[in-house]
Amino acid sequence: MEDCIFCKIIRGEIPSVKVYEDDKVFAFEDINPISDGHTLIIPKKHAENIWEIEEEDLLAIHRTSKKLARAIKKAMDVAGIAVLQLNGKAVNQLVMHYHLHLIPRKSDGPEIPLTKWELVEGNMDKIKEIGEKIAAAIE
Ligand code: AMP
Ligand code: ZN
Repeated sequence: MEDCIFCKIIRGEIPSVKVYEDDKVFAFEDINPISDGHTLIIPKKHAENIWEIEEEDLLAIHRTSKKLARAIKKAMDVAGIAVLQLNGKAVNQLVMHYHLHLIPRKSDGPEIPLTKWELVEGNMDKIKEIGEKIAAAIE
């Protein structure tokens, strides 16, 4: 879709810290991470939400979530990972291109919010460093 920010990321028109890509999905680091290693998985074919996305793209995203969750656990010191996905403005979906959040939590880190959090810009050098570690740990 022409004006969609995540479609632009897939096309390479907006830079991103990519950790994984295949024919169906694209995964990259969130630039306002709730925690270190906050990663987004999106379908390459634009769909706004759970109601629009095709089943095969949804399956590909969830297959990838397992791959990346394993890589995140291997690459970083994490106690758990929240897998979160918001549909609709009522639950604060901000980017209208389906995305699955993988949000790691260290045992001593703050609790992970469910549908509302403040966007705090992350340090891009640190985000790139973590993204490279995660990408390298993918099997
Ligand atoms: P939400 O739609 O509320 O599930 O969240 C959208 C997420 O996309 C937020 O966590 C943003 O920080 C993230 N985001 C928005 N623009 C970008 C971008 N250009 N690169 C990486 N993450 C982004
Ligand atoms: Zn899109």
